[in-house]
Amino acid sequence: MIAIDQTLHANQLNFSGGPGALPQAVLDEVQQSIQCVPETGLSILGISHRSDWFEQVVFELERNVLSLMGLGSDYKVLLLQGGATQQFTMVPMNFLGRHDGAHADYLDTGYWSAKALPDARIQGDIRVAWSGRSENYARLPEDHELLLSPSASYLHYCSNETVEGLQFNRVIGLPGVRRVCDMSSDFLSRPGQYDQFDLMYAHAQKNLGPSGVTLVVIKRELLEQVPKGLPSFLDYREQARANSILNTPPVFAIYVVLLATQWIRQTIGGLDAMGEINQSKAACLYRVIDQSDGFYRCRVAHDDRSIMNVAFSLPDPGLQAHFLAESALLGFSGLAGHRSVGGLRASLYNGLELAAAEHLAEFMSDFAQRNG
Ligand SMILES: *Cc1c(COP(=O)(O)O)cnc(C)c1O
Repeated sequence: MIAIDQTLHANQLNFSGGPGALPQAVLDEVQQSIQCVPETGLSILGISHRSDWFEQVVFELERNVLSLMGLGSDYKVLLLQGGATQQFTMVPMNFLGRHDGAHADYLDTGYWSAKALPDARIQGDIRVAWSGRSENYARLPEDHELLLSPSASYLHYCSNETVEGLQFNRVIGLPGVRRVCDMSSDFLSRPGQYDQFDLMYAHAQKNLGPSGVTLVVIKRELLEQVPKGLPSFLDYREQARANSILNTPPVFAIYVVLLATQWIRQTIGGLDAMGEINQSKAACLYRVIDQSDGFYRCRVAHDDRSIMNVAFSLPDPGLQAHFLAESALLGFSGLAGHRSVGGLRASLYNGLELAAAEHLAEFMSDFAQRNG
């Protein structure tokens, strides 16, 4: 077996599917802020959400997110609660429309996009424009397979299927139909044509911070379409009007996300650089899988492989247990597949360093040689 890498400690070898690993530099700052945020002299856990300082935190976070994504002031960033799951309800509640024949198109490409469906259906007519369920979610659709409706109120899909390890490398949808995207597991992980979307949402806990806050990036003009009479907490327009401080927001989680965006901007150098690092991390694992003569199996279509979640399996469950046990001895964690699909999965969120992925690749080659 390969040797334990003394330069990488447990946090750096955390391949958890979520909450995910955070960069060490961010953790160091967070640790200090629990005692005292330098600018305020107070612990982050005891600072009022109505303070000028926190208002600045929200302001700077919004600016960082828009600037990283290359978006202008025609977009608004909201910091909400309830996780990505609450967005499954809020999106149709706010944007399905109440006119005769109002409907929305959804893609069913995996565990998470499928999860969005039942909650959306409570709100009205939801049509599935393509489903990968019958093929066990082994691939993403091609454009010509999509049954998209030009009169849909919006199209909803998930850019990265966290469980199956599928990721879109293009923008989907018809011109003139609003695009809504669940980007929970690849938000701020690479550059993209984000101005093609009307609403993007992502909870923080995979790529950006702790659980407790969900970022929604929404085109401001959409806010005008929110129907009257919604509970204020679930109303995007009310949340925007209150600058995300409608009630007590998760101050701590928001602060950590601010630190993570500062880290992406200043230490990493933006989304182009972040994307290159993430691409390299995934490439070294897929290389080992592809060169293993079928010892490691990746069941998703080659072109749809995710660079965030590398899902793979071994020929039998006994070997898989052996893989998990040996990798744990070397300090790796979080490598078991999602409980719904089993197998193995390496999640390569922003906070995970290239050296950690390379170390895992080294272990995987060695394990294959000894057990193949
Ligand atoms: C993890 C995940 C979710 C669930 O998010 P919660 O914050 O737990 O509600 C939704 N969508 C995607 C793509 C995810 O990866």
